[in-house]
Amino acid sequence: MEKLRFLTSAKAREAREKFGTPLFIYDEATLKAQAESALAFPNAFGLTARFAMKASPNAAILRLFKSLGIQIDASSIYEVERAIRAGFLPNEISLSTQELGHGFAELLKRGVHINACSIAQLKKIGEACPGSEIGVRFNPGLGSGSNNRTNVGGPTSSFGIWYEKIDEIKNLLQHYGLKVICLHTHIGSGSDPSVWSKVALMSLDLVREFPDVHTLDLGGGYKIGRMNDERSTNLQEIGQPVKEAFLKFADETGRQIHLEIEPGTFLAANACTLLSSIQDTTDTGSDGYSFLKLDTGMTEVLRPSLYGAQHPIITIPDNPEASLTEYIVCGHCCESGDILTPAPDQPEVLQPRKLLEADIGDLCAIEGVGAYCAAMPAKNYNSFPEAAEALHRETGELQLIRSRQTLDQILQNEVAAE
Ligand SMILES: *Cc1c(COP(=O)(O)O)cnc(C)c1O
Repeated sequence: MEKLRFLTSAKAREAREKFGTPLFIYDEATLKAQAESALAFPNAFGLTARFAMKASPNAAILRLFKSLGIQIDASSIYEVERAIRAGFLPNEISLSTQELGHGFAELLKRGVHINACSIAQLKKIGEACPGSEIGVRFNPGLGSGSNNRTNVGGPTSSFGIWYEKIDEIKNLLQHYGLKVICLHTHIGSGSDPSVWSKVALMSLDLVREFPDVHTLDLGGGYKIGRMNDERSTNLQEIGQPVKEAFLKFADETGRQIHLEIEPGTFLAANACTLLSSIQDTTDTGSDGYSFLKLDTGMTEVLRPSLYGAQHPIITIPDNPEASLTEYIVCGHCCESGDILTPAPDQPEVLQPRKLLEADIGDLCAIEGVGAYCAAMPAKNYNSFPEAAEALHRETGELQLIRSRQTLDQILQNEVAAE
């Protein structure tokens, strides 16, 4: 059975009393421990660890990481701006985006690192800022994500420039006088050292083609075990062959390449609990299912509905004698796909969970929601307001870091038709 990670039942009740539910609670101690582990990634000639802020962009989280020496990987010009507002310097931010929006030239001039992620982006940057130093994101032709929704390398992925287009890239660089100083390859969730070793070697082969490159960014995608029986990536283990590849490359070429990594999931996933209240129950007869209905769902945690992702769920019954029973846990949206207990990787299939028997009014915690949950909701579906967020400090204190949205805020940009 899954257990609460960093909260106690008493602390959870205190949190509900203070801030209500649904409530995301981030744990400062876990965020710090993960940051330290990322900063210890094996490297030969220096390391920059960036937080892929799309995983969890609240300013309080960004500031905490900044204080620990972590820099930023941004996925849009809006994230760049958000990171700057949270206190990062432009040159502490790297932008790799699917949509290079207006305003990128200004950001580049201010010192933001920009990785061209397509041929069109390369041309756009060349037109607007000829002569600049830039990065290029490659699709190295290999991916390791567990399904098409998480795979971001290989022929099914639109991320980065296909590795066979080197000549086209070189022609454009020459045409615009651009200087490539960084190569970037981010190929998706994986924890297999042999895959990381292969990616490092393939990426270093690309570095050979670009004599001005001094930095290689291997992206993120370090798998984290959210459930008890899932393994987390050991960065020391996967980093070792990467370090060796960099050393060997230096022996052969005399070039000492700086390493960058950009974890999102690894830094944040297990550092947050979503606290909810059970607001209804129902069952569908003796051959059916028992359902717990929460005051949250795809409006806060979309991953189970989207890809059958598994999150630990812990009911916190008031009844101290509660025994285990099987439940389907569902969200509050009028949407049959709003399910928190799908079968693994099969969002269409229900899979009951054994949980402590619980009733209306009891608390229910969903663990492992620090990455791609508060940041990636089915926001305002059914007009439910966006949940509040709190930080559980190392002192045990709970601090609000985002207020619950109001109905007025949901409506504020609506304009009455003539
Ligand atoms: C999303 C993303 C990451 C982080 O991925 P995780 O799987 O959360 O570690 C890193 N780099 C880039 C370019 C990304 O788009």
